[in-house]
Amino acid sequence: MKHAFTKIISTLGPATSSYEMIKLLAQAGVNVFRLNFSHGDIAGHRKNVRFIRRVEKELKTKLGILCDLQGPKLRIGTFEKGSVSLKAGQVFTVDLQNKPGDETRVYLPHPEVFQVMKKNMIILLNDGAIGLRIDDFTDSFARATVLNDGILSDHKGFNVPNVMLPIRALTDKDEADLKEILQMDINWIGLSFVQHPDDVRHARELIKDKAAIMVKLEKPSALDYLEEIVDLADGVMVARGDLGVECPLEQVPALQKKIVAVCRQKGKPVVIATQMLESMIQNPLPTRAEVSDIATAVYDGVDCVMLSGETAVGRYPIQAVSMMSRIIQQTEQDPFYRIHLESEKLEESKSVAGSISGSIDHILKTLPNPALVVTYSMSGATTFRIARERPSVPILALVGNEKIAHKATVLWGTIPVVCKTPKTMMEVIKQAQKQAKKMELATVKDQLVITAGYPFVGAGNTNMLHVHTIEE
Ligand code: PEP
Repeated sequence: MKHAFTKIISTLGPATSSYEMIKLLAQAGVNVFRLNFSHGDIAGHRKNVRFIRRVEKELKTKLGILCDLQGPKLRIGTFEKGSVSLKAGQVFTVDLQNKPGDETRVYLPHPEVFQVMKKNMIILLNDGAIGLRIDDFTDSFARATVLNDGILSDHKGFNVPNVMLPIRALTDKDEADLKEILQMDINWIGLSFVQHPDDVRHARELIKDKAAIMVKLEKPSALDYLEEIVDLADGVMVARGDLGVECPLEQVPALQKKIVAVCRQKGKPVVIATQMLESMIQNPLPTRAEVSDIATAVYDGVDCVMLSGETAVGRYPIQAVSMMSRIIQQTEQDPFYRIHLESEKLEESKSVAGSISGSIDHILKTLPNPALVVTYSMSGATTFRIARERPSVPILALVGNEKIAHKATVLWGTIPVVCKTPKTMMEVIKQAQKQAKKMELATVKDQLVITAGYPFVGAGNTNMLHVHTIEE
């Protein structure tokens, strides 16, 4: 069976929160399900976790679960009539008075924002649709000029682009959600609106090793610390929705390329998110530009591409996943795909593990029938290291437990399988051959390039490589 290298993340929502839909999504190609804690309730998310685990057993595969915390998304209060129409040039005030707004003012329940106000500063409302320029302010209100016409309704988003806000990435709601989430059988936690490396450190203190941390990059201030944040994270998401509000839209493609390049250098899984097939929320077919956007991400060698509203609330969730899967497979079959991937030169650390991983490509190119790279890894470190090399064949990741297998679901080209802890290298070879045949990933006379850290203790000590030709 041919496996795609690039993984698919699908967000669950009202359109897909049932056992039947989750099964159909998984069959259409989803590798990881995203539970969005900006919506829904804990009971609903818990139910989806149970459905996903049932589907996973039934389909005999591994499905990752990413819980995406809401984070400090700033929102305005409400209006007497539910919405108002603002006109360019008029004066509009945001303040700390907790009462419904009108055409002249609205409640902004975030006192921290008034501490960073500056005259002539631009703030954005309704995901960037309406701009305001600050004329004057105190620590409890800010009077502004409206820059363009628009409708503003209850609880719309409020962004202060290019400003480091004195708020932490984990709100009280996030911490309460986190307590519940850490009791669930989940694998990744999405950290929204990270501004500083300390946000990741703080989350790690709370999460410990109970789940992996996926940092969502959506604040330009985080990009000033990109390398440090990527080092601290287990994975990174290019959250283009809010990133495209926080900085000019035309800068998003270059930022995406930069973040992907840093993650690939550092061997951290990277996800491209938001509006990948947006038009399929309403239509059965995507636009040409959307198809091209997904293919571009695949050519760039990202680990995952993600669907949000398309599968959460869209009319065509299964079709969206099938379409994404077809685009991935077609792109990966293009000979230019490998040329593009290999043109990205990765720096190799001078170490035993670095030397072994760096030699994989040459070995695969000079073997007669290379079919798989097999990693045996207790911590997952060897598997992550090999995935960084983007080998020309899939990676069969033999791991000692469910936790590592689930963490590896986001990894490019990786098929995680839990196996019994081997005692000897001979046992690893036997297990590799057995699994490869059983999963129809390799056949007689094919070569498996097996790599592991031997003896099997501790993490990150990749030190051996063995080429095994499959026997009858
Ligand atoms: C985004 O902003 O692109 C994103 C993925 O985050 P959310 O869907 O939580 O807004």
